[in-house]
Amino acid sequence: MWNVTLDLRCNVCGGKRFLLPALSEIAEDVRCADCSAFKCKSDDLERVMTASR
Ligand SMILES: [Zn+2]
Repeated sequence: MWNVTLDLRCNVCGGKRFLLPALSEIAEDVRCADCSAFKCKSDDLERVMTASR
């Protein structure tokens, strides 16, 4: 897992730090590093990654 700051907001606590799944687990949900909520979906991550390119 990677602990990174993203241009996303946690749906639960509003935090911007997230734990990313390893590449082999990319289908897993992104998890909030602060409250461990699984609200932050990898769909959102993919959208941000694409937009930042
Ligand atoms: Zn959170």
